[in-house]
Amino acid sequence: MRTIDLRSDTVTLPTAAMRQAMCNAELGDDVFEEDPTTIRLEKMAAERMGKEAAMLVASGTMGNLVCVLSHCRRGDEVILGDRSHTFLYEAGGIAAMGGVHPHTIANQPDGTLRLEDIAGAIRADNVHFPRTRLVCLENTHNRCGGAALSPRYIEQVAALAHDHGLLLHLDGARVFNAAVALDVNVEELTRHVDSVSFCLSKGLSAPVGSLVCGSKEFIYEARRNRKALGGGMRQCGIIAAPGIEALEQMIERLAEDHDNARRLAEGIAEISGLLIEPERVQTNIVYFDVAGQTISAEQLVATLAHKGVKILQVGPARLRAVTHYGIGAEGIDLTLAALEQVTYR
Ligand SMILES: *Cc1c(COP(=O)(O)O)cnc(C)c1O
Repeated sequence: MRTIDLRSDTVTLPTAAMRQAMCNAELGDDVFEEDPTTIRLEKMAAERMGKEAAMLVASGTMGNLVCVLSHCRRGDEVILGDRSHTFLYEAGGIAAMGGVHPHTIANQPDGTLRLEDIAGAIRADNVHFPRTRLVCLENTHNRCGGAALSPRYIEQVAALAHDHGLLLHLDGARVFNAAVALDVNVEELTRHVDSVSFCLSKGLSAPVGSLVCGSKEFIYEARRNRKALGGGMRQCGIIAAPGIEALEQMIERLAEDHDNARRLAEGIAEISGLLIEPERVQTNIVYFDVAGQTISAEQLVATLAHKGVKILQVGPARLRAVTHYGIGAEGIDLTLAALEQVTYR
């Protein structure tokens, strides 16, 4: 039986071209900054993001952590969304490793933070308060249904942050999904931020790695923090080579994942017993709920797994499906057929 694994776009496997690129990669010691393949990937990433420099890290989590550590000192405060990946899913690393205080404000359903909420969270200079140092945005916004933040919105947040002497970091794990969905050059989404991290290993299908991008001075600081976290990697051209392939070959095709996500959402909307707002699905992430009490989200996950379809439970009644490379329209139709066979009431 064929398995359709919609739990995440991280389950994507490297393409044949990526495996070939790994085999042929020219290598050196990257802690000495002598790995030509890694240097090439970092140059490409910096160019794409419109930044001076970039650095390869092991994961998106490490990327966000290195960025926060490079911007903040112990006791500083970072303003971020209450549904942000950094707040919810990164093991509290910014507090645990950096002594950085998270100040959460509400994420709106479209993934944004209200400008007045950000302004209201900025601390006055007072001995009682931590020092506000950084604002973080997430694009696309994972827990807010894969919503894409617009260039205009990001520019507004950057202006607000910079007016108050703060820095802006973008968790752009899926920033290329945002660029494709909005039909803009990715640089329009990153132009105004002080740092951005993005993942190679999600929809772009590379096996490992993320990049952090920013000014030369910022990346200089980030290299030291990456080293301190044990993230200095030696012949990491092995990882960088498929990353180059990902940036060259795998971005435009993200539109297919978005089409498939919409197809899935529209199909789910037709199934009585499931709740979804299909018009909210902008990119490759689909959240939906079981409506009644007859079947729990847990039971639905188990029933589908039996039929060869894997999805993720993310709340008592809430489920997530993520479309990605290797799952076409026929895979979506098989998923919908499996969902239709379940008794909901
Ligand atoms: C996946 C993800 C990360 C972290 O990436 P890992 O490589 O899994 O550590 C960070 N931010 C967002 C929004 C993500 O979806």
